[in-house]
Parts: sequence; C-alpha cells; structure tokens
Amino acid sequence: MQKNINILIIEDLPSDAELSKREINKILKNCSFRIVETEEDFINALDDFQPEIIVSDYSLPNFDGLTALNLTLDKSPLTPFIILTGSMNEETAVNCMKAGATDYVIKEHIKRLGTAILSALEKKEIIQKKLNAEIKLKESEVHFRTLADTGLALIWTSGLDKKFNYFNRILLEFVGKNSNKEFGNEWIKGIHPEDLISCLQIYNKSFDTRQKFSMDFRLKHFSGEYRWMQNDASPRYDSYGKFIGYIGHCLDITDRKNMIEELVLAKEKAEQSEKLKSEFLAQMSHEIRSPMNVIISYANLLKSILEETLSPELKEYFDGIDSAGLRLIRTVDLILNTAEMNVGSYEATVTKFDIIKNVILKVIGDYESLIKQKGLTFNYVSNISEAIISGDNYSIYQIFTNLIDNSLKYTNQGSISVIVDNKDGNKNIAISIEDTGIGISEEFMENIFEPFMQEEMGYSRRYEGNGLGLALVKNYCNLNRASISVESKKGVGSKFTVTFPILKN
Ligand code: ADP
Repeated sequence: MQKNINILIIEDLPSDAELSKREINKILKNCSFRIVETEEDFINALDDFQPEIIVSDYSLPNFDGLTALNLTLDKSPLTPFIILTGSMNEETAVNCMKAGATDYVIKEHIKRLGTAILSALEKKEIIQKKLNAEIKLKESEVHFRTLADTGLALIWTSGLDKKFNYFNRILLEFVGKNSNKEFGNEWIKGIHPEDLISCLQIYNKSFDTRQKFSMDFRLKHFSGEYRWMQNDASPRYDSYGKFIGYIGHCLDITDRKNMIEELVLAKEKAEQSEKLKSEFLAQMSHEIRSPMNVIISYANLLKSILEETLSPELKEYFDGIDSAGLRLIRTVDLILNTAEMNVGSYEATVTKFDIIKNVILKVIGDYESLIKQKGLTFNYVSNISEAIISGDNYSIYQIFTNLIDNSLKYTNQGSISVIVDNKDGNKNIAISIEDTGIGISEEFMENIFEPFMQEEMGYSRRYEGNGLGLALVKNYCNLNRASISVESKKGVGSKFTVTFPILKN
C-alpha cells in the first residue's frame, strides 16, 4: 500500500487550491493536504505537518513563493518545492529554479502538476537514498577510524602505487607527527637503517605476489629511541575484488624481545655454570679418588706385612681405614659418574654379554658376605642360567651395585633377594632386588629417581648417602634401553625391577 503523502499547498484562492488537490489526487492516492496563505501558518506547517512536498503560488497578498522557497531551503532543504503560478514569465521561472525550486508549473497547464509532483518525489527519494548511503559511509568511516585509533596497534595502509597513504593516530603519535599529509611516505625513513633493506625487499616481493607478510623491524620513536615492531600486513581489495594496496599493523614488541634475550642469556649462563659445576665435580672426584686409592692400598699393604704381629684392636683399625676408604671411593664414584652423565662425557661401550655371569653373579660376589655380616639372609632365585643382552657393561654393573647397596643400607632385619626371571616368552629378562627393609612412602615414590631426593633429609638422617644413586640408576637404565619399576610398602620392604631385552639365552 502506498504510504500517506503530506502535501502543503500555499494558496490564497480556495478554488485554485481545490483545483490543485484534484489534479494531484488523479495521480497520487493517500494524500493529505494542508492549505496555508501566511508566512506564520507556513512555518507552523513545516513543523507540525512535516510535508513531503510543497506546492506554492508565486504571489499572494501577504506572502510570496520566493520567501516560502527560501524558508524551505533553510528549514527543510530536502523537501521538493514546486512553484505554481498563472503569471510566470520565463525570467521568473529561471530565477525560481536558480533559487532552488525543484520545478514550476503554470496554472494554465495545471494537468502537469500531478506528474511534476511524482517526479519531484522520485528525485527526492533518490537524493534521500544517496544521502543515507553517504551518512552510513561516514558513520562506518568514523567507526573504523575510532577502532583504528583505539588500542595499541600502529596501523598503516598503502595504495596501488606502493605509497603509504594512511596512518592511524597511534602511529602518528609514535613518530611525533600530526597528520597523514605531513608524514606520507616519510615514515620509511624512521625504520632502522640495518632493517630497511630487508623490510623493503619483503614489502616489494609481497606486493608483487599479493601475499600476506610479517616482519620485525626497529622504528624510531619521536624521542629518538628505536623500538622493535612486529608488523603484519595483508593485501586490500575493493568491493569488486580489485587489489588496491596493503593494510598493516605494527605492535611494539621491544619489551618481549628484551625479555627473550635476557632469558636466552640467563639460560646460556645457567647451562654454562651447570657445565662448569659438573666439570669441577669430575675433576675434584679424580683428585680425591687417586690419593684415596693410595691410602687404601698402603693400609692393606701395611696390614698384610704386619698381619702376624697385629693385635685384634689394631686389626680393627685397619679394617676401619679400609671400609671408610671404600665408602669414600663409592661416594666419589657416584659424583664422578653423575657429573659425566650431566656433561654428556660418559662414553658407553656397547657389547653383547651374558648379564647373569658378567654382572649379576659378580655383584652378588661383592655383596653376599656384607649382607650376611649384617645378619640378613641372602637369596638368589633364578629360572635361567644365561641371558645375552646388548649394553654397556660398566653402567649396568653400576645399576645393580647401587640397588643392592641401597637394599643393604635400608634393611636392618630379614632378607635381601636377587630374583632373575624370564619375561614375555624369553623376550626380556627381569632382574629384581627385593628387601624387607624400611620401605618407601607413596608420596615419596614420585620423586624417587630425582637427584638429591631422599625420603629423610637433613643432618638428623639416620642413613648414609647423598641422594644421587637412584637418579644415576635411572640414567643408566635409559642409556641401556632398560626399564625400571619400584614396588614398596612402608615398614614392609622394597622391590626394584630392571628389565632388559634379551638377544638370546
Ligand atoms: P641415597 O644415597 O640417599 O640412598 P638414592 O638416590 O640411592 O640416595 O636413593 C634415594 C632415596 O630413595 C633414599 O634416600 C631413600 O629414601 C630411598 N630408597 C632407595 N632405595 C631404597 C630401599 N631399598 N629401601 C628404602 N628406601 C630406599
């Protein structure tokens, strides 16, 4: 349904006004009319009637068409204004049109009024639409400019000619400029000379291939200081999909860059000092080990020379020197081996050998009498006599020495057992060291292979040790592609099982 159209008629003769209404009604339905003949009524009608179109007589006794036209242009410039008169000469008509009238109709041709109004309304609609579109465009421009000027990003755009044509307020403030015009292509001069060539290369290459690009460069702040920017840019296209240049935004990443640099330096420093520490430990261990070996050898030599004449008391002293010396050597060996593993200087010698003969029975040989001396029972349970594996003999030997040494240390009564078992249809061999010692709490279990971790710590500790043994055991297991597991219960005992793949048995 056609919407109601308010038509304001300025006319002093009721018959002429009636004539106009009739002509208009022939072409347009749903029209509301208001007839005025004085300036005051006209101004009021503009306000409260809000006409869509005005039809005005040229000359009235107390008012005139030109004044009405000027008032309209002032108060409601989009409302079409048609001059209607019976006495219009050519010159008056031209003046009215020049003054801004939409059209004019001579009363003798009143039949034309309907179509004149129709085309004026159509024209008005077109103008209104254009105006609305312009308003929308302006609004969206303001919207995006506000967006661009809010936040931290320095935004720029360039045109087809590769020249830069827009910078947001944040970018302008950064470089200390007031307007885009003042700045223009100049901003390239703010890029650090060392970064400029690569920046231009990336920009030009991306421009030619229409690719997105990202680059870091230093940009001169208005204070003179260079700041690191991370610049990300994308090609721009118009509404027809035509390439029109680039849009990019830069973020100040100086603090992030500095932080990363500091972190890298700190890491390098930490690694270097860790290496130095390990090297120092390795050297110190050598320094302690050599004289210690001399002490133990001479003590043993003296003991054997004086064997016959030694009183039981003196013999005990010699045994004391021997066992304290061996303990010191074991501690030093642990430190030395740990340092070697940390620095990565341990050189494994991988061979094929029988783990039972070359390792297990030897470790048992070293520890069986010590276990019995402590009043514990020793058991060896095995369902195989030979198992060839591939690995590093020294470190595998150390694995079991450490495990059995711990069992001996942490068991005060009961037994220690070495259990050798075939697993997964002869594919693997599982070797367990089981004791009836103090056991390990569940909470400590997750830290058990961490270096320097001991369930009881501090000077009140009841057991010897430095917390390095199990960490080294774990490292040695990894080195030999063996797996290790622990089962333990506080106050009941512990069982450490190491599993190796068997080559043959
Ligand atoms: P430590 O030199 O203290 O024995 P380890 O690295 O060999 O260091 O062992 C770490 C900790 O694990 C020990 O301090 C102890 O608390 C616990 N632990 C290791 N083996 C046993 C065991 N057989 N029985 C009870 N606790 C053990």
